[in-house]
Amino acid sequence: MPAILLSIGDELTLGQTVDTNAAWLAEHLSALGIACLEHRTVPDDLDVIAAAIQQCAERAGTLIITGGLGPTDDDLTRPALAKAMGAELIEDPASVEHISAYFRARGREMPDRTRVQATPPQTSTMIENTRGTAPGIRASLGGCDIFVTPGVPREMKAMYERDIEPAIRQSADQYSGVTRTILTAKINTFGSGESDIAEQLGNLMARDRNPLVGTTVSNGYVSVRVRSEHADPQQAETMLAVTMKQVRDKVGPLAFGHDDETLQQVVIDRLRGSRKTITTAESCTGGLIAGMLTDVPGSSAAVLGGWVTYANEMKTRYLGVCSELIEQHGAVSAPVVEAMARGALKQSGADFALSTSGVAGPGGGTDAKPVGTVWIGLAWREGGAVNAHRFFTNLAGDRATIRDRSAKCALQLLRLQLMGQDVEHVKWATRA
Ligand code: AMP
Ligand code: MG
Repeated sequence: MPAILLSIGDELTLGQTVDTNAAWLAEHLSALGIACLEHRTVPDDLDVIAAAIQQCAERAGTLIITGGLGPTDDDLTRPALAKAMGAELIEDPASVEHISAYFRARGREMPDRTRVQATPPQTSTMIENTRGTAPGIRASLGGCDIFVTPGVPREMKAMYERDIEPAIRQSADQYSGVTRTILTAKINTFGSGESDIAEQLGNLMARDRNPLVGTTVSNGYVSVRVRSEHADPQQAETMLAVTMKQVRDKVGPLAFGHDDETLQQVVIDRLRGSRKTITTAESCTGGLIAGMLTDVPGSSAAVLGGWVTYANEMKTRYLGVCSELIEQHGAVSAPVVEAMARGALKQSGADFALSTSGVAGPGGGTDAKPVGTVWIGLAWREGGAVNAHRFFTNLAGDRATIRDRSAKCALQLLRLQLMGQDVEHVKWATRA
């Protein structure tokens, strides 16, 4: 039987708080093989909550409600549940004792209003809160198992892991033993758009396929999500592995990592693996590339350091870029990013250097160099010589987006170079 998640709170419906509880719970339920039929969010309104509980209980085998269990007037989940169940609220002495013990342990007296948290609807039971005062509630309504937890994520998680998940497992086993395994995995790509990736994936994205393949975009990354379902866990695993390989083959070298792996992490791993070092010379990205690289733990083994050379004089003074070159071509140009990368390589002694120079906007664009024009330089040592590539990108978006995508493009180009792959794979950059 599928589950429904019901999140309660004005802060959620107003958009002041992001509903992370539902995401966390959905992921954990899906690991148990339980699909979520719906995520629902309602404000702190007694009648609305009661109606939502009734409607959800009619459609789901399991309903998990989070939020609104506190001691204040806007915490209405208990009375709403009682209303939906047609039950009275009755004080639970064991929970009163538990709450007062919680306060005693902290050298405080239990405030009177906290007592109300220990009054669940009749016929329901309380779930101990090991991380706070408001107990959870376990109830049943027309064949639907209902679990209620506080909204505070750490309290909710502790309650789910300690009491709710075991209870859900138990009742799932009771029904028929028809359990499914749902496995999910993600392949992350950077360097082309979602529609290009979708085109490459072709009929792997058919909606009636198992494993199901879909794409999502976030901050310029296109991720391919794979979801494999089977009654036999081993079979689910095998199916997932087969589809993941098909996806990787179709997407090609733009796929840089799996699941939570980041582009910068993969770049650092590659550099460390080949005992190579990197330096950066950044203009329009203002240190973003260096920042991303040094976000990675252990990056000191590969990152020597770098420059943020915004003014032309800085490019000349610290990187040795000829002022005539800048005068002749402008700071945003192929020869200048190449000279920046070569200069950084020379000054630092690193094996690789990345450089950027571009028009991030919103002002400063011209007909010849509109906002979004970014040049990326990549220099590296090969034998006794130094080689360099220059890349042109014409990025869309606001200032933050242009800077961010430039930095990621630079890292992806470096990654491909490190792998000996063709840098032309990156659709957003052309080699000049
Ligand atoms: P409550 O249990 O409704 O008093 O919620 C306590 C606090 O938990 C709220 O102020 C929010 O900051 C947080 N919270 C409540 N619901 C959620 C949710 N669905 N996702 C993330 N945080 C939440
Ligand atoms: Mg609340």
